[in-house]
Amino acid sequence: MTDLTLDSVREMDREDTLANFRDRFDIPEGLVYLDGNSLGCLPKATPDRIETVLREEWGRDLIRSWNSADWINAPRRVGTKIAKLIGANDDEVVAADSTSINVFKALSACLQLNPKRTILLSERGNFPTDVYMMQGLSVLSGGRIETCLVDGEDIIGALDESVAALLLTHVHYKTGRMRDMKAVTAAAHEKGVPVIWDLSHSAGAVPVDLKGANADFAVGCGYKYLNGGPGAPAFIFAARRHQDAVFPALSGWLGHAAPFEFDDTYRPAPGIDRFQCGTPGILGMAALESGLDVMLETRMTDLRAKSSALGDLFIALMNERCAQHGFTLACPKQAEERGSQVSFHHKEGYAIMQAVIARGVIGDFRAPDILRFGFAPLYNSYEDVWRAVGAIRTVMESGEWRNEKYAQRAAVT
Ligand SMILES: *Cc1c(COP(=O)(O)O)cnc(C)c1O
Repeated sequence: MTDLTLDSVREMDREDTLANFRDRFDIPEGLVYLDGNSLGCLPKATPDRIETVLREEWGRDLIRSWNSADWINAPRRVGTKIAKLIGANDDEVVAADSTSINVFKALSACLQLNPKRTILLSERGNFPTDVYMMQGLSVLSGGRIETCLVDGEDIIGALDESVAALLLTHVHYKTGRMRDMKAVTAAAHEKGVPVIWDLSHSAGAVPVDLKGANADFAVGCGYKYLNGGPGAPAFIFAARRHQDAVFPALSGWLGHAAPFEFDDTYRPAPGIDRFQCGTPGILGMAALESGLDVMLETRMTDLRAKSSALGDLFIALMNERCAQHGFTLACPKQAEERGSQVSFHHKEGYAIMQAVIARGVIGDFRAPDILRFGFAPLYNSYEDVWRAVGAIRTVMESGEWRNEKYAQRAAVT
């Protein structure tokens, strides 16, 4: 890229076929929001949707809404919408619980597929909750099951007949590096190892083809690129071939074959329904469905093309305008190898990010030294990228990040 000017960047926005979607989101005036990979923006349709669920379905119709508003099928209905974004069949995905809880369900399912195997394998530096859930299962098993973490490049070599499950994040939360889902799954299957893919930074961000990769299980968040709102329900995918082979470890009544028979004995529902546990949060489901409905008006390939271009522009502008300020790229330079985020190392990363946020450009910081910027192609513009790099440059040239108020760590970074 050469001759990057504000005019040339605005021209990119004029040619952007997705540009109209920005107006479907409620984005505070003047704010550049590059944190949709942590908490997606509010779709303008969502407050009305929630208002209807609150006042009509809950307030007026009360308990009847489980049937009349089809609340009971919300997890499957929403799951079907997510399935379209991740290359799954409609009957392979359910929206439920949190990603952490769904990791537990998937890990315990894998342990049942191969009861003699004792190793849960993942990558060092994976998103902590995934690894913590493995460690909890190890303790629950009285030490029979062991957690094994190896460096990312050693994963394939660590696969053998003792491994009950390989748990990997498809797009790494810090580095943005994207794994070859198909190749890794095939290598694991050669050793009989089922793979659990964490799609938290993939669903709604990059095209995913679970069927094409012959994936076993997958989980992911609803509040990141799917714009489902804070703490939105997560999702779990289980390939058809595994569904009926698993007796759910979290055997809640809504995963029962006939919940309203109130039987004393748990009998798992056929298929994906057994991966539900307790009563779903209907307000959260409604918000997530609203977010999905906006996204489903587009095609993942178009979103991906724009997100790659936004990331490429960000990297190019940082090179041009901030090269002397000590940032080093922490994500792959090639768009094909990264998800929808760009990250940089900087030893003063925390304070710099706080100062950039104070200038109305929101990204986030991940210890020890990563500044992370997520690009949500539904609502981010090329001009957002221009303004973000401008704010970073101003913060560095003025030295305002040195103000000690920016060094104090908040509870959430
Ligand atoms: C955000 C994220 C989670 C979050 O899990 P919760 O249970 O929703 O808190 C899990 N895994 C990955 C890879 C994530 O990026």
